[in-house]
Amino acid sequence: MAKCPECGALIDLEEDEVEEGETFPCPECAVDLEVVNIHPLELDAIGEEEEEDEAAEGEDEDELEEEEEDEAD
Ligand SMILES: [Zn+2]
Repeated sequence: MAKCPECGALIDLEEDEVEEGETFPCPECAVDLEVVNIHPLELDAIGEEEEEDEAAEGEDEDELEEEEEDEAD
């Protein structure tokens, strides 16, 4: 018996029936699960690979350089 880390559903799995690294969808929430450990039986949800593109920061930093006028006279 294993537990889906995503939805918490108990999945009727036997340690003898699965191999480490095996993947299968959760019958309850359909998330892809990977067997990460056999004893004790442990599952890990395989999330969709989210490519986090670092959003380019807006390039409108117009820094106005203030010229200091030194009137040393
Ligand atoms: Zn689930």
